[in-house]
Amino acid sequence: MIEKRLAALRALLVNEQLDAVIVTKYVNLHYFSGFRGDDTTLVISAERAVLVTDSRYTEQAKMQAPLYELVEQKDGLLQKTADVVKEIGCQKVGFEGNALIYDDFAKLTELMPGVEFKTPLKLDVLREIKDSTEIKLIRKACGIADAAFEDILGFIRPGVTELAVAARMEGKMRELGAEEPAFKTIVASGLRGALPHGIATDKTIGQGELVTLDFGAMYKGYCSDMTRTICVGKADERQREIYEAVLSAQKLALTLIKPGAAGKAVDAAAREELDRHGLGEYFGHGLGHSLGLEIHEAPRLSRLSTCEALVPGMLITDEPGVYIPGWGGIRIEDTVLVTETGSEALISSDKELIEL
Ligand code: ZN
Ligand code: ZN
Repeated sequence: MIEKRLAALRALLVNEQLDAVIVTKYVNLHYFSGFRGDDTTLVISAERAVLVTDSRYTEQAKMQAPLYELVEQKDGLLQKTADVVKEIGCQKVGFEGNALIYDDFAKLTELMPGVEFKTPLKLDVLREIKDSTEIKLIRKACGIADAAFEDILGFIRPGVTELAVAARMEGKMRELGAEEPAFKTIVASGLRGALPHGIATDKTIGQGELVTLDFGAMYKGYCSDMTRTICVGKADERQREIYEAVLSAQKLALTLIKPGAAGKAVDAAAREELDRHGLGEYFGHGLGHSLGLEIHEAPRLSRLSTCEALVPGMLITDEPGVYIPGWGGIRIEDTVLVTETGSEALISSDKELIEL
């Protein structure tokens, strides 16, 4: 698994005519080595794979990154990283343009005189298509989220706060093996439902309110992401109408997620479906995003998507929403796997309107 990832990375080095790359982004340290910690760099060349860390992590790195030569630094991470580059004899070295902060870039440039250090690489692209190990972990993270949703239905009632709901969901996910929530749990009730990213507050949930729950589990580093909107009590006509429109857009998009589909096209179809119900103007964000080691990854389903064709093994969310200021909001979201023949929703919780 790590061998394959290193091979893909080395092919990129050949393409870019680089001797090595310095990996610094937390999730990419994990992806390319197996190591999970910070304050660490990887120096990867055609022949060598070196992990530079400090004494806090040496034992852990031995266990988690057995394919790497370990170098323990005592006088500074960047100094030691530069020393490794020099020792390998690299002339041209790439870096992660979206992860190496400017001060560290400047310092490394200073520490490696004579080395050409000016090529930013997009290593995240190599993580877009998930391997079977990753899909298994994401499937598990989705199962944990599903179980937390089932559990919370028995807890939500008028008078409990959004924060209490979030705490219970996060606790349940941990009980089931999650390391932490994949992101800050969103519990947006009543008028707050109009906030697409309304993280839980001390607001009390009221009778007749819609509650949007957007949450996920992180399992062994991998994220899940799901949203359900439920009604506390019997839904009124407008709540039900808008719910059905969002659900119809969500289900339509699910049928369109398949190999070859363009990110813009799937997004446009969901948008048109909401337009047909006169709700298009209330759907501000993109339809979906990929996820894996990070909660938001490329490719995207949106008006600005650059994804020309989905590929089997990609993960994508399908999450249309309607947000009406002064009324509230509804969103329904599944984490979806692109398969050889179409797609599979990895979230299995019921999507029909639940009235508690
Ligand atoms: Zn979400
Ligand atoms: Zn999402």
